[in-house]
Amino acid sequence: MDAYLAVDLGGTAVRAGWWEGGSFAESVSQPTNTRHGASGILEQITALAHGPGRPSFDRCVIATAGTLNPKTGTVLRSANLPFEDTPLRLEMANRLKVPVAVVGDAVAATLGEFCAGAGKTASDGVYMTVSTGVGCGIVTRGALISGSWQQAGELGHVPVDLSPAALPCACGQRGCLELYASGAGIAARYAAATGRTAKGGARDVIAAAERDDAAAAAVVSRATTLMAAAIGGAIRLFSPEVLVLGGGLTRSQLIVDQVRQGVDRLLNVSVPGAVNRVKLAQCQPTSALTGAALLAAGAPRAHAMVAESRFAGQLEGWL
Ligand SMILES: [Zn+2]
Repeated sequence: MDAYLAVDLGGTAVRAGWWEGGSFAESVSQPTNTRHGASGILEQITALAHGPGRPSFDRCVIATAGTLNPKTGTVLRSANLPFEDTPLRLEMANRLKVPVAVVGDAVAATLGEFCAGAGKTASDGVYMTVSTGVGCGIVTRGALISGSWQQAGELGHVPVDLSPAALPCACGQRGCLELYASGAGIAARYAAATGRTAKGGARDVIAAAERDDAAAAAVVSRATTLMAAAIGGAIRLFSPEVLVLGGGLTRSQLIVDQVRQGVDRLLNVSVPGAVNRVKLAQCQPTSALTGAALLAAGAPRAHAMVAESRFAGQLEGWL
């Protein structure tokens, strides 16, 4: 039987899954080795893929964090990975000795959810992920909107604080959504407000908010208000059948409830019932891994979704 390898490479964890006959036969996750530069990560993926007892595979798709050249699969830069003009596709094809394609992690997660998850029957929708950062994918008439350089959907870097006190973002702008409404943002805002660093990051801050810690509750409430505004904006912009909400932060019922209430408050007059289009991701925590596996396996809906994008050339001959 044909078998395929999917890899989800993030700043915190690298996950690998072996896809056979329409599901994962095996999967494994490790902390990302970011201590030895790009080559440390390339070696880590190779060791994961070819480790003792691992199934063999015919093709591999790697979903990665960072900004890509979609035609070549080179990672131009990444906030959370030690990549700079790293030819990830070429390097991994040489190491794994099979055809490799490299796709953005938000794109892969969008494909996963719109082919196998909460959006699988929708032809128009939006996927939004809130984890360490904030990402987004937009599907219209069954195709992923990629923009002129595959960088559409950078919702995390839409400024939401336009005041003189707006914080500087690593992207060069000020006041970006991600600074307030991501996991890293929540942890940093809590530390700035209280002078205390939450050891477990955003998870600890959210737990404190659930216990009615006033400082934590204020940080979380601001985050969910801004997430709701972003979702409301996406609903007004794209009129999606479904807006799939994913990412680690959505494991918190407090976050989900506040976001849904916020969306309802914003849109209950202009788009009645809009809040009912907000659905939780169903393939978590493997939405991106699933999307990568479907591309590797040549799943028609996944390939159709990217057929018009610059990324499609990487998949030539894979159907
Ligand atoms: Zn930014």
